[in-house]
Amino acid sequence: MEFNQDDFIPGSETNKEEHSSSWFRRVRKGILTSTSEKKDTPEGLWIKCPQCKFTTTVQDLKENLYVCPQCTYHHRIGSEDYFDILFDNQEYQELFSQVKSVDYLGFQDMKPYKKRLQEAYDKTGLHDSISVAAGKVGEKDLVICCMDFNFIGGSLGSVMGEKISRACDYCLQHRVPLMIISKSGGARMMESAFSLMRFRHTLYIAVY
Ligand SMILES: [Zn+2]
Repeated sequence: MEFNQDDFIPGSETNKEEHSSSWFRRVRKGILTSTSEKKDTPEGLWIKCPQCKFTTTVQDLKENLYVCPQCTYHHRIGSEDYFDILFDNQEYQELFSQVKSVDYLGFQDMKPYKKRLQEAYDKTGLHDSISVAAGKVGEKDLVICCMDFNFIGGSLGSVMGEKISRACDYCLQHRVPLMIISKSGGARMMESAFSLMRFRHTLYIAVY
């Protein structure tokens, strides 16, 4: 099979030598995926490293586990990406996706909370700032709760508490370990005290 090095590590602010060294590093690590095995990525999707300004395709960055191939800067990883990285064969089942935020207070700041939520759903394709999934890691069952900073700053609303509670219940019931990947920006002010009301229940289950 013939590879064109430039197809693998494109970058606007690097030289050829760095291209090939990155490429060989990736071959050594065994993470080179042939084009036919790659998941579909929309053409023209590029991402620039905020630290060294190296430009790469999203697909290449994904294969490098979101670490910049030039300066090793760690890019933000979304919940679906974490699930793809951690679960065997990228196979998992999302749990409790039907739990959605409610605008208890008719809250409005720069825009109504309902509108903000709808925009977050549309922009991210997520159901809330936390996603829960069950699958296998090294052939052993595992449940992972992972927060998404892209969904209203990873803020903790009532849904987050509810989903963590349900995930704990699920794990106790099925005798499965739970992993939580936490990257929240704090409580969601649009839900005021409601965002914190699941805390007690969550803590109770966690202690139990
Ligand atoms: Zn970089």
